[in-house]
Formats: sequence, structure tokens, C-alpha cells
Amino acid sequence: MKETTKILHCIPVDELTGAISTPIYQTSTFVQESIGVHKGFDYARSNNPTRKVLEDLIANLENGQNGFAFASGLAAIDAILKLLEHGDEIIAVDDIYGGAFRLFTHIYQKFGIEVKYVDTSEAKNVEEAITSKTKLIWLESPTNPTLKISDIKEIAKIAKANKILFCVDNTFASPVSQKPIDLGADLVIHSATKYLSGHSDLIAGLVVTNSEELGEKIKFIQNASGGILSPFDSWLVIRGIETLTLRIKQHSENAKKIAEFLLTLDLVDNVYYPGLEQHKNHLIAKNQQKYFGGVVSFDLKIDEKELATQIVNGTKLFKLAESLGGVKSLICLPCEMTHKSIPREKRYQSGVKDSLIRLSVGIEDVDDLINDLKTIINKVEKLNQFIKQN
Ligand SMILES: *Cc1c(COP(=O)(O)O)cnc(C)c1O
Repeated sequence: MKETTKILHCIPVDELTGAISTPIYQTSTFVQESIGVHKGFDYARSNNPTRKVLEDLIANLENGQNGFAFASGLAAIDAILKLLEHGDEIIAVDDIYGGAFRLFTHIYQKFGIEVKYVDTSEAKNVEEAITSKTKLIWLESPTNPTLKISDIKEIAKIAKANKILFCVDNTFASPVSQKPIDLGADLVIHSATKYLSGHSDLIAGLVVTNSEELGEKIKFIQNASGGILSPFDSWLVIRGIETLTLRIKQHSENAKKIAEFLLTLDLVDNVYYPGLEQHKNHLIAKNQQKYFGGVVSFDLKIDEKELATQIVNGTKLFKLAESLGGVKSLICLPCEMTHKSIPREKRYQSGVKDSLIRLSVGIEDVDDLINDLKTIINKVEKLNQFIKQN
């Protein structure tokens, strides 16, 4: 069965009523026939039928063993970190999602877990950073906002050879584009807030394991810590996933055209998009991703925050907001928004200049999106020339 069909048809019809849309089981507890005799559900923190449909669906989509739904992407990441113990070390991608950096550094370091950040786009950097204490390798590919690509298969080999858990945050690619477990990862996480829900209408996180053994551990942590996703939000994520393939195709098609358009502009310096041949790791991306996604970043030849600010404030269709992966296009200035807490020097090391603008390209008609960017960039360019001449 092809994936688009599989997604729609692995969501079961409700056995009790025949409902084709998964019912929302809005309940805290389940009545038992006698003590311990029930239909597989006893208390809704431990298990809920609506959440279970989502959990099975994401496990299926990622070709994993078990899926788990959490109240946010960060709650999903937190559950994985709880597999570790005092004294363990993590090797993580250097331009990691800011919220994951905050969790690793400001919460888990306190409990004696150390993190080493390395440039994972060269797999040998991961290998060189391993010590006897390394227990987890944490990867994002593509990364935010410069769309850095790492070779998942190569890093998986290194992890396996050293018996280290390997987790991939697959938020930016989505499972229709990239399947880290097939490439050798042990764990996958998602911020389902982004492409999986796809409509900028909820916060959710997912974990997928590659084995029953890991699944049991995450299940225990999910129940013990309690950061679960509600039945209603589970239902919304299921609904979002039903159109995931369609949306990712359109996001990717639009983003590629926008990236190509940006390349033609005098004011624009670097354009970051893994689907462009000039992207540093385009071939690796092509190897491990079916689509290149909807995020495009670019910076300006005149590297001034003021200029970039005029652009992000001036678009009409691209709405100024954090987050990504929704059907409507968004624009943001990472140095003042998503990456504000990162020191300027460190930010520049990972290519996030003051003038770097990130687009989350939606599924609108791409001609309108290009016009929106063209209008404001021309205006800003003219204004800048006028200021220079006077
Ligand atoms: C948004 C995001 C997260 C965090 O997810 P929340 O749902 O906001 O908690 C983690 N990783 C990546 C790559 C993200 O983009």
C-alpha cells in the first residue's frame, strides 16, 4: 500500500459505533467489570482510546514499534531525557532547537547530565566526542533556522557501534519526508505543534521507539510523569496527519520556488534550503528526504537588523510570528525572536546573522507569496538606496 493510502486507512473505524472519525473519549476513568477486569483502559493518564489511535498512527508512520503522545514537543523530549541517569553525557547537534537547549542546560545539567554540542553535519565530529559516559546522541536534521543537514545513517552506525541511544527530532522533515528509524535511529520525537497538526491550532509532542523494550520504558515514564496529550488535541493531530502528505508536497513545492526566487535578488546574500543544489549537504538531504519541507531562510548583503526588521514587519501574507509548519505562511527574525537568548557571537558561529530571516512557507498560491516578498523587498531596497544617496 502506498503511504498516502496507508495514513488514511491505518486510522481504525470505531469498533463500537462504526464512526469513521475517531471518537473523542473525554473521560478520566473507565468502569471496571470487577477489579482489574476491563477493556484495556482503566485511567486516562495511563491510556485513552483517542490518544491510542494517534500513538499507533505515528508509530506506523515512522515505521517504529510504539508511539506516545505528550502535551508538547518539549514534554516529549523531556520523557526521553528521563531515560538517562546522573553522570551520563549527551552529544547534541550544535544548532539545536532553543527550547531543547534550555531543557538540557538549565534543567538536566542540574541533575548531573552533561551535554556536548558538536557540528553533526560532519559525522566524524560525533565519533570524536564520544566518551565512556556518552549515553545519548541527539540530532535534528534539517536544523532551525539554517537548515543544516546531517547524515542520519552514518551517525546511526556510530551510535550502534558504541551502544549509544540515538534520537532524531524529526519535526522539520516530518515522517512523510524522512524516516529516521529506517535509517537506524532508536527514537524519534516530533513537535506535533508544527507539520503534523499543520494548522497552527495546538501544542503537542510525540515519541516513537524502535523496540518494545524502549517502548515499555517510555510508557512507564509517560505514566509516571504524566505529561500526556488531551483527547481533544489527540483528535486534532490525527485529523492533521490525514492531510500530511498533501500538505508537505505543497509546502515543499512552494518553498523551492521561493528559495529560487530569493536567489535572484541583489539584496539577498545566502539562501538556506536543502532542496537547492548549492546547499552544502544537498546530496545527503536528497538521499534521506523525500521532500525538502517548507522552511526557507535567507540573509542580506547589508547585514543590518534594521533592514531585516523592515522586511518582516512589511509582508502582508507572511504573518510575523514564531513557529512553523502551518498552512498559512509565517515570517520571523530569529535574532530578535526564536534565537534572542543565544549570545550574538555563538549565533554568528551557526550562521544566524542579524539580518537572517526565516520563512515558514504555507500552502497559499506561490505566486501570491512571491509577490508579497517582492513588494516589500523592492520597497526596502529603494528606501535603503535613498538613505545612502542623501
Ligand atoms: C517547536 C519545536 C520543538 C518544541 O516543541 P513544542 O511543541 O513547542 O514544545 C522541538 N523541536 C523542534 C525542532 C521544534 O521546532
